[in-house]
Amino acid sequence: MRLSKIMQNDYLRLHQKAEKGAFVVWIAIVVPAELFSGFENVVYAVPESHAAMSAGKGVGPLQCEKAENNGYSPDLCSYARIDLGTSFDGGKDSPTFGLPKPHLLISDNNNCSLLVKWFDVYHREWGIPHFILDVPFCYETQKEEDLRYILSQYQDIIKIIESMSGQRFDYYRFIEAVQNSHEALFHWKRFLSAAAHKPSGITVFDSFVQMAPFLTSRGTKELAEHYRLLADETLENVSRGIFPVPDEKYRLLWDNIAPWHQLNKMSARLAELNANIIAASYTYCMGSVEGEIDLYNYDGADPLRYLARTQNFSVCPHGLELRFQSMKKAIASMGIDGIIFASNRSCKVYSLMQMDLLKRATDSLGVPAVMIDIDHADARKYTEENVFLRVEALLELIDAKRNALARAHHKEG
Ligand code: SF4
Repeated sequence: MRLSKIMQNDYLRLHQKAEKGAFVVWIAIVVPAELFSGFENVVYAVPESHAAMSAGKGVGPLQCEKAENNGYSPDLCSYARIDLGTSFDGGKDSPTFGLPKPHLLISDNNNCSLLVKWFDVYHREWGIPHFILDVPFCYETQKEEDLRYILSQYQDIIKIIESMSGQRFDYYRFIEAVQNSHEALFHWKRFLSAAAHKPSGITVFDSFVQMAPFLTSRGTKELAEHYRLLADETLENVSRGIFPVPDEKYRLLWDNIAPWHQLNKMSARLAELNANIIAASYTYCMGSVEGEIDLYNYDGADPLRYLARTQNFSVCPHGLELRFQSMKKAIASMGIDGIIFASNRSCKVYSLMQMDLLKRATDSLGVPAVMIDIDHADARKYTEENVFLRVEALLELIDAKRNALARAHHKEG
């Protein structure tokens, strides 16, 4: 309820401010939106977030088809197709009436290069300037030179907005925004910590939907307050013995973006099997840095540097070693019984390493795992029965492992 209100208000405010003359920036999902809080009248929109919401509300395929009818390949990421379909149709059929037209586009290449090409379409079609945040790939702890390179680009972004909008960047407003976001992330981690309880205090589907405000309200006090309340309520439920899957028998981990069009159906069907996906690499990476799952602490000293240090928080820019490290930590700290690797037709970059990860998780950690096929936002590329055949096979593997362990234990005894 509180979540829908926040989302409604955020999109309403975005449209109202844009109508009244605010400078509008469209950004890729991991561009640090706190930068815009340093300006009095700059608003931002995240096309990927709008695409996820469209998929969740059931209009993903409709918007994808509009892009495909304009010549865009069905093999492109469904976020891009939904966004292109929505934009070229003036926001028709969008749950938020689309997004207000931007004055500036800021993409980045640390998740994928497709995104850069996607934003370039608007640059070409509408003649809007496009800044590409160039982020070095990440195989280990971020190097100082990489951090400085990212920092210099943030400074460029600030100068560009100052010159295009005629507004001055206020460093103190910006400091406050970074503090608010960091506080929100602190409570986000408290909320996710409920998964460690047996049975888990949350399902992954709760955490998927609760990511949304982080993409529309970044840097605000309301954001920090929302996550504080969410964590408090969730931990209170745990202490009162209220659990989403009370007879939880299987504790699963999800690797990839959320299947936005399946959240309700999938969670209900899993609950019938006493299975709970309690965590996802997609959600525990928020607020952490490479290979970690705990909060990356911000000491308040240098907000720009903190943003540059955490620029690579998401999974996609990480090499295999880092992805495996964080997965290993999640498995150990949350008592994971099995892993669902969701091979995503749209997001090749998230899916490419999954076969290797699956092999490492099963061979070196002994954790049963399966690979399923999904598309995060295009429901036409998802087959429920095929997915659940694999999921049920995973539960059988977990049972077989438990039985084998029990037999070994019995023999020893
Ligand atoms: S391909 Fe993946 S990383 Fe790139 S825009 Fe699509 S979902 Fe995001």
